[in-house]
Parts: sequence; structure tokens; C-alpha cells
Amino acid sequence: MNPITPLSRHQTLESTPLWQQALAHAIRTPEALLAVLALKPEQLPRFFKGGDKFPLRVPLSFVARMKKGDPDDPLLRQVLPLSEENDFTQGYLSDPVGDLNASETPGLLHKYHGRALLITTAACAIHCRYCFRRNFPYHQQNAAANEWDEAIRHLEQDTSINEVILSGGDPLALSDQRLATLITRLEQIPHLTRLRIHTRLPIVIPQRICDSLLTWLGNCRLMPVIVIHTNHPNEIDIEVRGALRQLQTIPGITLLNQSVLLQGVNDNSDTLVALSEALFACGVHPYYLHLLDKAQGTAHFDVPPQRATKLFDEIHSQLPGYLVPRLAREQAGARGKTLLPLTSIAGGHGERSEGPSALS
Ligand code: SF4
Repeated sequence: MNPITPLSRHQTLESTPLWQQALAHAIRTPEALLAVLALKPEQLPRFFKGGDKFPLRVPLSFVARMKKGDPDDPLLRQVLPLSEENDFTQGYLSDPVGDLNASETPGLLHKYHGRALLITTAACAIHCRYCFRRNFPYHQQNAAANEWDEAIRHLEQDTSINEVILSGGDPLALSDQRLATLITRLEQIPHLTRLRIHTRLPIVIPQRICDSLLTWLGNCRLMPVIVIHTNHPNEIDIEVRGALRQLQTIPGITLLNQSVLLQGVNDNSDTLVALSEALFACGVHPYYLHLLDKAQGTAHFDVPPQRATKLFDEIHSQLPGYLVPRLAREQAGARGKTLLPLTSIAGGHGERSEGPSALS
């Protein structure tokens, strides 16, 4: 991942949007993070610095939602590098979901019928230790190269594509000016009807939902779908609720959430039920609960499928159907997400493909 650059010498504090100031001031060392949380290194003997390729990064507003003095805080666990990341685990890969085989032009991935995904940036506001793209070769795969020309050309020529997905990194780490330029070009492609944005920024820096973003997104010809990424109800505080309410003012918008089932973070039914309730209370539909994508360095987060389906049974028994996310895994080369059924319905642990209507 590329570093988020500190403010350039041409930017003054006053001219820089609040969310970019928050990005620039994110915590970048475990020592600083532990100090803010009043934790002693001996309480977390397994932490390490995260290395140069995927260093620790966490915005202060996200840290503010962690419990001081708690080494097991579920938000802390998502961002603090542990020494287990350095263990080699059989079956874990650098490209666990087959992104590179789906690359049609640099940074344009075409896996599923009707949808194409753009890698818009390597930058993220937060570095999630379980990230499936933590080893992704962003320097080779970036649709933003040459002002998006190759990606746009591919989208113009393939009339079977009606939905463009902005991914990364985090697409909302790009400036509104840069995003507006891209959207203007996408709008001119007549067979495109939907714009989907996968982002964790409204959660980790809710000020990202600013007037300028609401303006370009609100004026977009393409039907907007925002898929936020949150894993634990403690991530949703009053500012996040306000940001999500702001997004709902955009005509025709659909707001969905995807989570990853993570050991030590959200692998219990009470947390998952509370997460669905919290999301729906601010207008977001719980959509996917993903099994961990097996990226090398993430094995300590894995929840085995049998345990996952048992948890899924439990949340299904406590929530109305529309608040139960789909339990899914992504398999390299598959034509859609693979859904795991309820054990109580299926009587086993069989899987079925969701088919081409799946979210990417
Ligand atoms: S925000 Fe998404 S892409 Fe970025 S590190 Fe987290 S999981 Fe990975």
C-alpha cells in the first residue's frame, strides 16, 4: 500500500479538508498507539511494527472508539500488527481471490458478468491487518495510471458491463476533484447504469462525507451504491451515524455493509446481532458476512466454516431475515460469491454459488 502523504507544501491547514487533515495525522507506530490507549508493551508482547510494506496506520477518530487499557479491544485487534503475521501458513496466498487472473487492463478486474472493478488507488485511511489485498501489487495494477485511459477504453468497448465498482485501497482516499473527473468520464459511457463504491472511510473518518463529496455523488447520472465496511458495532459512533445519514440524502442511493468474520473481533453472535441492529438504525443494510480471504499473514483471524455456520444459525434465530447478512466466501475463478447455508436449513455444510447477481 502507498503511504497517505502528509499535507503538501502547497496546502495550508485552512485549505485542507478536515478529512485530509485526519488522514495526515493518523497514528503510524505501535508505540504511539499503545501510548494513546494507556497500554504497556508487556500487555501486548506479540506486537511488532508491521514492516515497511504494510505498516500500522489508524486515524485518531477510530482510536477514540477503542477502550483504553484493554489489550483485547476488538477495534485495536483489527489494526495492531502481531508477530503471527510473520508466520508462513500453508494454503494462504498473496492473491487469495484470484484478482490478478481477472485483470483485463492494469487495475481493471473483470470477474463477474456485468460488473468491472477499478483499483483506483493503493491508499487506505486505515490498515486492516486481515486485508486480502495486503500483498497486492498496486504499482502494476492501478486504473488511475494515464488518467484512467486504458480502463475507460475497456469499459467503452465491453457493452456487457453495466456496473462499475470503485475499489482499492479505498477509493474515497482520492480527492473529490479526482473522483469527479473519473465520474464525469464514466457517465459518458451509455451502457453504464450503476456506480458502486467500496469504502471504509465513512467509518474510520466520517468527516469524509463532506459537502463536496455529496455534490458530485448527488449529481451523478449513475445509480449510486455505497458498500461500507465495518466489522464491529463499536465502530459506529455518533459521527459515523451522522455521516451515514448524510449519505442517505442522495436520491436513489443504496447503502450496504460488508463485514469479515474475524477471530477475536466479531466471532460471537451477540456482537454480530448488535452490528446488524446498529447498521439498520442508520439506514444501512447488512449485506455480506465474509469468511476470511486467506491472504498470507492473516491466519490468526480465521474462523473455520463449521464455526461460522453455527454462528450464522444463532444470528438468524435472533434477527428478522432482512437483518441477516449473507454468509459468503470468495473463491478464485468462481463466477460469483459462494454462499454458506444455514446448518438448520441445509442439514449440513454444503455451499452454493450465488451466481452472477453477487456483489463483487
Ligand atoms: S480499508 Fe479495505 S483495502 Fe484498505 S486495508 Fe482495510 S480491508 Fe484492506
